[in-house]
Amino acid sequence: MKKIVIIGGVAGGASCAARLRRLDNDVEIILFERGPYISYANCGLPYHVGNVIKTRDALLLQTPEAMHDKFNVDVRVNSEVTSIDRQNKTVSIRETAGKEYTETYDTLVISTGSSPLRPPIPGIDSNRIKTLWTVPDTDTIKDMVKREEVKTAAVIGGGFIGLEMAENLHEAGLEVSIIEMLPQVMAPVDFEMSQLLHENISQNGVKLHLNDGVSSFEDTGLSVNISLNSGTIVKADMVILAIGVRPNSKLAKDAGLELNQRGGIVSSNKLLTSDPNIYAIGDVIEVDDFVFGDKTMIPLAGPANKQGRIAADLIAGLEDSYEGTLGTSVAKVFDLTAAATGANEKTLIRRGLEKGKDYEAITIIQNSHAGYYPGALPLTLKVLFCPKTDKIFGAQIIGRDGVDKRIDTIATTIRLGGKVSDLCRLELAYAPPYSSAKDPVNMAGFVAENLKNGLVKFANWNDLDESHDGVTVLDVREKSEVMAVSISYAVNIPLNTLRSRLDELDKTKPIIVFCAVGVRAYNAYRILVQNGFENVKVYPGGMRFYVSTHYTEFEDDLDEEPSPRDDTGDLRSPDDNKDPIEAIRLDCSGLQCPGPLMKVFERIGELNDGEVMEVHASDPGFLTDIKAWCRRTGNTLISTETKSDEYIALLRKGLDKTKPVKNNKDANIIQSQNDGKTLIVFSGDLDKVLASFIIANGAAAMGRPVTMFFTFWGLNALRKEQKQKVDKTFIESMFGAMLPRGSKKLKLSQMNMGGMGTAMMKKIMKDKNINSLESLIATAMAQGVKIVACTMSMDVMGIKKEELIDGVELGGVGAYLGDAEESNINLFI
Ligand code: FAD
Repeated sequence: MKKIVIIGGVAGGASCAARLRRLDNDVEIILFERGPYISYANCGLPYHVGNVIKTRDALLLQTPEAMHDKFNVDVRVNSEVTSIDRQNKTVSIRETAGKEYTETYDTLVISTGSSPLRPPIPGIDSNRIKTLWTVPDTDTIKDMVKREEVKTAAVIGGGFIGLEMAENLHEAGLEVSIIEMLPQVMAPVDFEMSQLLHENISQNGVKLHLNDGVSSFEDTGLSVNISLNSGTIVKADMVILAIGVRPNSKLAKDAGLELNQRGGIVSSNKLLTSDPNIYAIGDVIEVDDFVFGDKTMIPLAGPANKQGRIAADLIAGLEDSYEGTLGTSVAKVFDLTAAATGANEKTLIRRGLEKGKDYEAITIIQNSHAGYYPGALPLTLKVLFCPKTDKIFGAQIIGRDGVDKRIDTIATTIRLGGKVSDLCRLELAYAPPYSSAKDPVNMAGFVAENLKNGLVKFANWNDLDESHDGVTVLDVREKSEVMAVSISYAVNIPLNTLRSRLDELDKTKPIIVFCAVGVRAYNAYRILVQNGFENVKVYPGGMRFYVSTHYTEFEDDLDEEPSPRDDTGDLRSPDDNKDPIEAIRLDCSGLQCPGPLMKVFERIGELNDGEVMEVHASDPGFLTDIKAWCRRTGNTLISTETKSDEYIALLRKGLDKTKPVKNNKDANIIQSQNDGKTLIVFSGDLDKVLASFIIANGAAAMGRPVTMFFTFWGLNALRKEQKQKVDKTFIESMFGAMLPRGSKKLKLSQMNMGGMGTAMMKKIMKDKNINSLESLIATAMAQGVKIVACTMSMDVMGIKKEELIDGVELGGVGAYLGDAEESNINLFI
């Protein structure tokens, strides 16, 4: 009887044994496994640590006895194969109990998997530093977690196992840090996509140390001090090492089988090693990269299981072959799901491919299902393709719902040789609870097609990071959305007013247009290019993607608010002595950004000061938006709450005067206890205007609300540089021509000397790194200094609203006096 020996009894090995028995009842099958269990759910281990998978037995998919009874496989656990003698076709075995013997084979299958790396970092041998790979590892970690003194954990490595462990240890009640040497977690996705994960991990209260490797561990007896390359020391009661794997190929190496540089067993598409009697499958082998055809190593359960089946087919004499691995993967990372297939952009760049020529990338945000059906949640999709051949190189998706089926659709398309244009044509199942008539995958195809056909151009996600000088950043969202979160230097022209306000934009300057998620920006793009604007790009994914990819800049907006409910579930009064508060309920479920904010904006106008509103939304961005919106509109956010897919905010109309000013940037709106500063800028002299902005910025930096009231000659500082097309009388036009147009045209009050003095002053300021007036104005606006142009003076001097720089409010003396009353300093300059 032909004898098949399989080494390794989990994913690949167990699949191979079961399939082989189904195909051939007459062969003898012996399965050696060095551990105590076979065919267990290693992918489920992290979830048992977090008690999400409650029963340990649920992880054990097959016992040796059941495998024997069901499949007539001779399963020998606790039996390590220590060597292979290819000449005599035997393997040597050492049992855990100590017994040693040899066994012959006709055909050998190696499915020895991989093992977690444990590099020789000083102190790594501490008993508090664990890896998770087997059921016994899980038992050890679970026992540690249960111990009272273990309250903190550090996970080294931000790959999928590290992240799953971080999430589950957090779930188990530990305070968790993640330490990752690279600038990002989850290497299969590109950096900007990983920022969505970083944002969510931080929101879950897990401390992320990125770009920082471990230099040493020190076990202090009670915990471990982890020293990072940056000098930071992280203290943790337990440490999980999840920094990668190495193939278990020592057996193969010692037997003289061919290995690659990374120690992976070289095998053909028939899964044969350099020995025709030995197959190798799973994590231990190198495979063809399905996208580019070269060799790679991808340790995943799907490929291992399929290779087990194919090896069985081939042993049983069937035709089959393994055609490569795409690396399709999916992982739950706290509230998000991250998935990828094929190559990412980092790989394309590493391979020397050039964006715009050899590859293109599109990033879109789409709902998981029809927006009007409750529970629709945004998905961010990135697709990489070749603009010449339409070949799809890869895709990445991050979202809360429906990520897996979209990545599988794209993976299937790639696997079947489909092109990016095929994504438009895929006919995908649709009903409102599941998808949209144009599924996100179809939408990715449409956008890719538009890009290829020159109907749209995209900016890079980081195009605004270095400098936006000379670029008009155009925000086409509604005012209420801008109040919630904005880019300080962006010009706001809502899409529905864009056609009538095109003359406010400079055709000679490049424009980057954005909205909330990208759809309105695309419409704006089309309007602009059809009106002669040549250099326009859409910011991909809009403000939502900008906030996530730059989340550290918006962290103030992400602060945790207290729970709104008391122990009985009633809405808690902010003053503990009072009865629970009554709130007016506003249901915004099913509305997508900016819907909930607009609805809040409308409804709050009908409330009296002090009344409380409880807003329910399904848009996950809502809580971030409403926090900032309240701060910027002078309303009070009492608390926020997340209940599975429902986001609830409790807010009171008007300000809570007992709370201190929280954010300088918003200080103009948050009124405080009369510690505001008001400045009347009457002069149009450069030095005086400079002085007023320096004072204003200083006060704003101290968290004081600042109002600058520009009147008469001071208004010149606020004029736009370019002449604006506005209706004026003859005298108004004459007056306008005589007055300096904008901050750059202002002159010194003394020593102007025909402009020489002013030029000298500007040079000295530059040399000494003193901010120019223009940057002082921008900083003031970014800090939330309220800049008001006096409407009466504008009238007298014939200055029109359109001539003033963006961000200036118009107001009369009443507006100024209102702010002056709440100030303790009032300057006239
Ligand atoms: P394994 O399944 O690891 O089996 C190899 C077996 O060989 C081991 O049991 C080992 O004890 C045994 N062995 C090794 N040497 C010898 C020897 N000399 N003698 C006898 N026995 C030996 N993949 C995914 O696709 N999705 C996931 O969500 C996912 N989650 C994971 C979570 C965790 C915690 C872990 C550890 C892995 C996860 N993986 C996941 C990876 C996946 O489990 C592996 O890719 C897959 O199990 C590889 O299959 P394999 O047969 O090559 O090796």
